[in-house]
Amino acid sequence: DVILSVRNLTANVDGKPILKGVNLEIKAGEVHAIMGRNGSGKSTFSKVLTGHPEYEVTGGEIFYKGENLLEKEPEKRALEGIFLAFQYPLEIPGVSNLDFLRVAYNARQKHLGLEEIDTFDFEDLVQEKLDIVKMNPSFLERSLNEGFSGGEKKRNEILQMALLDPTLAILDEIDSGLDIDALKIVANGVNQLAKPDNAFLLITHYQRLLNYIEPDFVHVMYDGRIVKSGTKELALELEAQGYDFLDEKVLTEV
Ligand code: ADP
Ligand code: MG
Ligand code: MG
Repeated sequence: DVILSVRNLTANVDGKPILKGVNLEIKAGEVHAIMGRNGSGKSTFSKVLTGHPEYEVTGGEIFYKGENLLEKEPEKRALEGIFLAFQYPLEIPGVSNLDFLRVAYNARQKHLGLEEIDTFDFEDLVQEKLDIVKMNPSFLERSLNEGFSGGEKKRNEILQMALLDPTLAILDEIDSGLDIDALKIVANGVNQLAKPDNAFLLITHYQRLLNYIEPDFVHVMYDGRIVKSGTKELALELEAQGYDFLDEKVLTEV
């Protein structure tokens, strides 16, 4: 089953072309990684997938579960199972983490035609999921992300992901700023959540994350295009040679 199919996608930011023809197909059960140097368009691609209004699609197609994704509002995309873990997670003072999670969960329930969950049952459900990210229950009472450390924010996003059970989870630089213990917890969370009927798109600058989450496919983004795809070996090759080797490669191959 194809979950995501992207063909010749082009997009502008501030009137400037950033994505210059992205092609990608993701099937159910797959974990894909996109690597690339800073400024190559990785985050732009993830934002275009979620429908962020600042990113203007100028050409190409995106099909999600067989339907034209570009026709759907960002909220609809989220409700239909596209989840983006932000590079810089939001802080919302005055809203407890637990309340935030419950509102997000119930919006999804409603969309699926299922009953909303009450506060007590929701607490039980969250308790179960806390284990996945080894989070202390006291985090639930605190304001969303306020005063959370980088590692705590990332773990909180994995918790959110565990509750929302997305079909396509996009993790943009989830590894940035994490020490090795936090990285292992986050990676372990992702590994537990990866199932035959969902898919993951990991976006990362570094190979390090891929020591803990084994991708089925690795893609390299370069100047707004995926210029190379392969298996995990490609990530190791990039690490060994750095991104500079792509300059010559791309220039000679194009
Ligand atoms: P990556 O995630 O690979 O580092 P980005 O997608 O963040 O790359 O950025 C690609 C290019 O688009 C960069 O030149 C960046 O400056 C530009 N860009 C991204 N987002 C914005 C924005 N909101 N406003 C202006 N320029 C942007
Ligand atoms: Mg798998
Ligand atoms: Mg980025």
